[in-house]
Amino acid sequence: MKHREILFHGGIVRSMEGTASEEALLVRGNRIAAIGPVRRLRSQAASAELIDLKGSTLLPGFIDTHTHFFEWARKLSGVDLSGARTLEEVRGKLRSYREHAAPGAVWLGGSGWDPRLLRGEKKPDRQLLDEIFPEQPVALESRDFHTLWCNSAALKLAGVLDGREPPEGGEIGRGSDRSPDGLLYETAWELILKARPPEPEAVRQSWLKKAIAEAHRFGLSSFHSMEPLPAHRSYDELARRGELQMRVVYHSPVKELERRIAEKRPSYSGTDPWLRWGGVKIFADGSLGSASAYMLDPYPDGGHGRLLVDEQDLSETILMAGRNGIAPSIHAIGDGAMRIVVNALLDARASLQREGMDLHPLARIEHAQCVRSEELQRMSSLSLSCAMQLVHLMDDLPLLSELWPDQGAHVYRARSLLSHGMRVILGSDAPVASIDPRQGICAATTRQREEDRSQGSFFAQECLEEEEALLAYTKWAAQAAAWDEELGSLGAGKLADLVALEAPDPDDPYGWKRARIRMTMVDGEIVYDELP
Ligand SMILES: [Zn+2]
Repeated sequence: MKHREILFHGGIVRSMEGTASEEALLVRGNRIAAIGPVRRLRSQAASAELIDLKGSTLLPGFIDTHTHFFEWARKLSGVDLSGARTLEEVRGKLRSYREHAAPGAVWLGGSGWDPRLLRGEKKPDRQLLDEIFPEQPVALESRDFHTLWCNSAALKLAGVLDGREPPEGGEIGRGSDRSPDGLLYETAWELILKARPPEPEAVRQSWLKKAIAEAHRFGLSSFHSMEPLPAHRSYDELARRGELQMRVVYHSPVKELERRIAEKRPSYSGTDPWLRWGGVKIFADGSLGSASAYMLDPYPDGGHGRLLVDEQDLSETILMAGRNGIAPSIHAIGDGAMRIVVNALLDARASLQREGMDLHPLARIEHAQCVRSEELQRMSSLSLSCAMQLVHLMDDLPLLSELWPDQGAHVYRARSLLSHGMRVILGSDAPVASIDPRQGICAATTRQREEDRSQGSFFAQECLEEEEALLAYTKWAAQAAAWDEELGSLGAGKLADLVALEAPDPDDPYGWKRARIRMTMVDGEIVYDELP
């Protein structure tokens, strides 16, 4: 059915090119043939199939610019413990999972349990898991991804019951008898990751297909992946079978940089319709939630967090990547990390310019959470893309007001970054936060949690306008991957990646969150259909 014609009418077509909207859009095969008045398009395509949008808004498919998509797919395949408030509720979820899950996977994964359970009178322990899963190894991630809760079978395979020690920075939880209690903190996870055999490619593919279908329900037609190399292999395999149904930009870890240079894989180039190489992902620091973001002022409990790079090394990495057409995508959360990163970028740019080159035009900062005004000034000559996940702000707000009452003005400065010439692009960091772009749009435009509305917006001057938040999920996101000739806006000749959603209630600041997704189209095919 690839060459059929579909004429969408009866709604509002927002092309994201300028603010004007159109009446109708014509798809021919996998591309948009025209947008404009419905009568004109009908005369161009008399035999086109008509789809009545019934008042929905038609937009370019959403692009999530920062995910760990394969990890999200893995999470979807495991047991979901989110929402359970007590150990009894956790036990209930595990029991019902065991009853309904298809057997097969040797290791059982899961996530979402509330770390506050660790402060209860009775903590999660391996005995609780052993009752339900006496033989199958089980490892369950806490909602904040800092603690792994394992049963005895998993601990045995990882050597923990035989006295194996965790790597530096990790800790094995112990009960009153000093034996491992089943909780592995921070880097102690690695013991489990090493023991867990890689899942067969067929299993990976089935997880991904399920996750892609789930992402279509949220109107996504493209995502950026920040993951180890096996994820790229799995996307590639799906693409070759014609089953990827998502435009994927893959950012490779810095440890693969030399291999990538040798294999000649520059950033954001090529013509593959589904899978392209993004930047090289470099970590400058940790995260705010685990007090490892590198901050200029010390944390309330002391210490500045953890800087994971040396400024000179970082500059040399950017230089080496730049000489080979590879753009840096640098994780920086603390204001101290940001300062080091800006120093390194300026330094690497000067070196590249001396060699007759320049900094890659699509250099990115991932997260860009805490930025001092000095850095804003210094960044403005770099014209960087800042891949922000404002949806984290919703989780971080209580923490920020509690721990960092004076730092708020430096945090998630989407508006300031825009006005200093940065390209702000949005995403979720899934599985850390919900992959739903509507949540990200609300977070960017309101900067407040709906349940705390009375407190007002958190530094309201940094709110984005609705139009900007949408651009950051569509056109600007496509520009950040040099894919904007085909994606991110609606116009004749572009790929037919679309989302139709209910028009949000203009009087409700959270209208976007509640606007139902009605249809998602990828490459001219309707992949999700809930049109009335
Ligand atoms: Zn991430």
